[in-house]
Amino acid sequence: MSAKATTTERPTYILTRAVVRAVARVSPSFVRVTFGGEELSEICTPGEVCDSRIKLVFPPASGVLPELDRESDSWWQTYLAVPEEERGSMRTYSVRDVRIDDMAGTEVDVDFVLHLEPGLTGPASLWASAAEVGQELYLVGPRRGLGVDVHGGAEFAPGAADSIVLAGDETAAPAIARILEDAPRDQRGVAFIEVPSPADILRIDAPSGIEICWLPRDIGEPHGLRLIPAVLEYLGDADATDEIRVNDIEGDSLLWETPGYSGLGEEIAGPRAPAERYFWIAGESGVVTTLRRHLVKDLGIDRSQVAFMGYWRRGVAMRG
Ligand SMILES: Cc1cc2nc3c(=O)[nH]c(=O)nc-3n(C[C@H](O)[C@H](O)[C@H](O)COP(=O)(O)OP(=O)(O)OC[C@H]3O[C@@H](n4cnc5c(N)ncnc54)[C@H](O)[C@@H]3O)c2cc1C
Repeated sequence: MSAKATTTERPTYILTRAVVRAVARVSPSFVRVTFGGEELSEICTPGEVCDSRIKLVFPPASGVLPELDRESDSWWQTYLAVPEEERGSMRTYSVRDVRIDDMAGTEVDVDFVLHLEPGLTGPASLWASAAEVGQELYLVGPRRGLGVDVHGGAEFAPGAADSIVLAGDETAAPAIARILEDAPRDQRGVAFIEVPSPADILRIDAPSGIEICWLPRDIGEPHGLRLIPAVLEYLGDADATDEIRVNDIEGDSLLWETPGYSGLGEEIAGPRAPAERYFWIAGESGVVTTLRRHLVKDLGIDRSQVAFMGYWRRGVAMRG
């Protein structure tokens, strides 16, 4: 998320306190938390949210949120300036929905995945599992009215592509849902969404030309073993689908490779030639890395047509 100021010298993001207005357990693995509060009034532009990312600061063990200097130009420096033991934890989430209401003000919904197994949980998931109305967090997010190109928190950029292919696990489901609900009603394409169980299949108001393939895992089944074969089969790489085993899921670091940015330091191509299809792939980083290998190396798909985003990494706690 860019901290660059606009011509009006206002940061492109807002850093604000957000108050829990409602908590709903929408399925076994998802809890939807609705945030509101006066200071949230300038966040996000309804209809242009797509996969905008926000940062949430969860309180430290004391339960007391730190004081953050909200006038500063850099939310990250502001956060780091707080002593570590008072800082709490920052994690990245997607905006599932944003509503502006004359009476209620702006409300933002975030769908948190509950991963609560001992050793596999973290401050964000734990907080969400016990969230209550009235609790507060800090929220960093795109300022309303700046447009997705400016605020820097969204990656979905299909350009003039005729169709889109979206693929992700449960952590990407909220962003995929938002992308599809904000998409033009004549958008065509397909979305593959792997979720922990059939009961985690949620309603998405997608354009009629989008096919949504929900891929529930069996109990205890590792991430990716449904998603990778489904995407490869769709792309005609049928041979590869027989080979996917959990040990094939690769990648040690968090992958972030988009048409405009390379976490691997690869050269960024110039302006893109119009592509027929645009791919957006997010979720567990090893799974995304494995898909990247097949798409770019085996199927020869131009990386300028694809955003590959590691949203989390098995066994690794995210920092900011
Ligand atoms: C751009 C972006 C958007 C995102 N949007 C969402 C969203 O809308 N909803 C959402 O739930 N997540 C989303 N995520 C993923 C979320 O940030 C991570 O899952 C994060 O690690 C959760 O923080 P934590 O404190 O619960 O766990 P951490 O402290 O970061 O990790 C602790 C342990 O939990 C494991 N872990 C983390 N996430 C999962 C998981 N989902 N399933 C199983 N084990 C896990 C880690 O591997 C680690 O072992 C998004 C990430 C990015 C980068």
